[in-house]
Formats: sequence, C-alpha cells, structure tokens
Amino acid sequence: MLAQRISLLSGSGTAAAREAATAAAAIGRQIIDLAAGEVIIEPPSSVREGAIAAINAGTTRYTDSIGLTPLRKAVADKLSAETGICWNTNEIALTAGAKQGLLDAALAVLDPGDEVIIIRPCWPTFPSQVLLAGATPVFVDARSPTYVPDVGAIRAAVTPHTKAIIINSPNNPTGAIYGRATLQAIGDLAINYELWIISDECYSSFVFTGARHESIVMAHPGVRSRTILVNAFSKELAITGWRLGYLAAPPEIVSAAKKLQSHTTSNANVIAQHAILHHLQVGDGRFEREMKERLSFARNAGLFILSGLHDVATPVAKGSFFFYLDLSRLISALPAGSPVRSTDDIARLLLEEADVGSVPGGTFGDVNGLRLSFGAPPDLLALGLKRVVENLNSLKTRRAAA
Ligand code: PLP
Repeated sequence: MLAQRISLLSGSGTAAAREAATAAAAIGRQIIDLAAGEVIIEPPSSVREGAIAAINAGTTRYTDSIGLTPLRKAVADKLSAETGICWNTNEIALTAGAKQGLLDAALAVLDPGDEVIIIRPCWPTFPSQVLLAGATPVFVDARSPTYVPDVGAIRAAVTPHTKAIIINSPNNPTGAIYGRATLQAIGDLAINYELWIISDECYSSFVFTGARHESIVMAHPGVRSRTILVNAFSKELAITGWRLGYLAAPPEIVSAAKKLQSHTTSNANVIAQHAILHHLQVGDGRFEREMKERLSFARNAGLFILSGLHDVATPVAKGSFFFYLDLSRLISALPAGSPVRSTDDIARLLLEEADVGSVPGGTFGDVNGLRLSFGAPPDLLALGLKRVVENLNSLKTRRAAA
C-alpha cells in the first residue's frame, strides 16, 4: 500500500496534454503542440560548448550539494546585475531546476498545520509541494482579464496559521505581471503578518511590456530577509531537460537547502553546472536577445490572430510565453444541445479535430481557462492559432450528435 502523501499529488495536466499529443503523433497525425511549457529553439552554443568541454575534461564527480562555488558566485553576480541589489555566494543554492528550489523552500519553512496562500490559476506543482510538506494550500483567485490578484483578497485569506505566500510573476499560466504597487502591497502584508514569500521568477526573461522584470525584492527591499527567490536556466536558455536552477535567499535557507539536497538528490547535474558557468563567463547576451525578439514577434502575431475570436477577449500575455484564454463567455453562450460543456471538452476537440495541443484551465485550478504556448516554432504557431480561432468560432453552431 502506498503512503498517503502520494494520494495528495495531482497528476501533471501539462504532462497529460503532452502525452495525448504524443499519442496522436504516434499514429501519424501532425500535431501542433501549443501545450509545452518551453520554447522550442536551439540553446546557445556557449552552453553546448561548456558541456562538451566538461565531458572531455573527464568531469564526473559529485560537487557540493548546492553546487560549484564559482557558479554560485556567477549566479550571485548575475542576480546582482539584474536586480541592482548585491547578492553574495552564501545566499545562492544551485538546484535541479526551479522545481527543486521550490521544494527546498517548502520543506525548509513549512510545518504540518501551516497554511500557504497560492494565487490561482496556478502552476499545479505549487499546491502539490505544499501538501508534500504537510501544509495546506489556501487559494486566492485572480480574475481575468489581468489575473493580477487583489491584495485585499489575499489579506482576507490570512489566518493565524498562514506561514507563506507563493507568488509567480511573470505568471504561468496567465501571462500576468504583478506591478510595483501590487508587489509592494504583498510585501507589506508579508511583513505585517510575518510571512515568508516564495517568489517563483523563472519567467523573468520574458517580459513584453517594454519594462524589465521587477522582482518583489526590488519593489520592496524590506522583504529580502523573508523572501526565497527561485529562478532557473530552464526557460531562459531553453534547456528544460538539463535541470539547473537556483534559489536566492537568506543564508539560513541556503543551509537548509544544502542539508535537504545532500539527503535527497545531491548536486544538480555537474555537466549542466559547468555548461552554464561557461555560458555566464563567455555569453554575450545575443541568444537571450534573439529569443526575446522571436517571442515578442510571436506574441504580436499571435495576439493579432487571436483577436479574431468571437466571445473570447484577446489575452493580456504581458509576460511568460503563454496566451491564456478566458472561455467563460464562450461556454455560457453555447446552445443547450452543444457537445461542448467545458474547457476540457474544448482542449480535447482541438486535439482531435484541429490537431492542436493545448492545456485546459482545470490543470491550473481554473475551469474557464485554456493555455496556449507561443514558444512553439513560429510557422507552426501561426497555423495552430488559426485553427484554434476557426474551431472555437465554430462551436456555437454545433449540435450534439443525435
Ligand atoms: N515554476 C513555474 C511557474 C513553471 O512553469 C515551471 C515549469 O514549467 C517551473 C517552475 C519548473 O522549472 P524547472 O524546469 O526549472 O524545474
């Protein structure tokens, strides 16, 4: 018999969407995958060169469980340059992707009985990790069209058991970016109620509003001692499978991460560590600029196509690389006999009839949403989105099969 904690974990909706697309592709259908949480692009050559050099140099051994000191230092320098705040090596732990950094954070600060505020729609790993730590997720809904949470609603969710709040800006799945005033208000709240802030910033490179990413520690420097900032190279360098991320936090959290990792995974992959160290040493920023330009172009082209939707507002998509559609108006406008009742039905229909993979909002705790990634190759993206628009616009005229 399995331990109870396994029953607390939801299956991964994004993995399910990927598996459905893979199964359809396996029987010869040309699926356009707009479900993936990654940008489909060749990673920078400096990363590949760094990996090859490390392999050729016979690099095989364990590193410190929180990573190579020169890479921790390079990450501290990178974060200092990006935030304008000085970070030291003892505030950085390297992790196997952002996911491990987030789990370290949860295991380091949560006890059974604690509550954690999570803004919904949310990436499903947040509540799963909170549950794994024995704590309870408390959801606060952020609403369309902006999906920026109302700080009053967050305050109303605080109880004497609240220990932490998880924020994710730029956001997966909604593409929301929390502005300075929101971040400051969340920071004030965390200080007033003595909460930890777990800030997942793994889409920080993908901000399309002209401004640069603003971390909560920049908007409200007073929260730094209670913030665990988590980021990764997965999305930024298009190396999701290489598994390298980091947390930046007070040294006591970094020490806790060191203990946790030494008894769970040990160090993040050593070849990936060397590869990224090489990239941080020699990279000239061109890859990052070009990827951002490609995504910016894809976003504009995609928004134009999506503006052809009836009964669905064009999404805001200010950050990350997702279009998040609110389909509530469309679904409520469907005739009584319609075969479509939910966003699950719509995602299934898009896959079966339009050969387009998408992720229904239920994955993110929101029955009204549908997530489409604009990290897909540009030509496929345009084709896929046109099919989405045609398919959704045809829904109102469909009838259930007799
Ligand atoms: N955080 C968010 C919000 C994500 O969307 C993802 C991946 O989709 C992750 C963390 C995981 O990142 P990594 O692959 O670096 O573990």
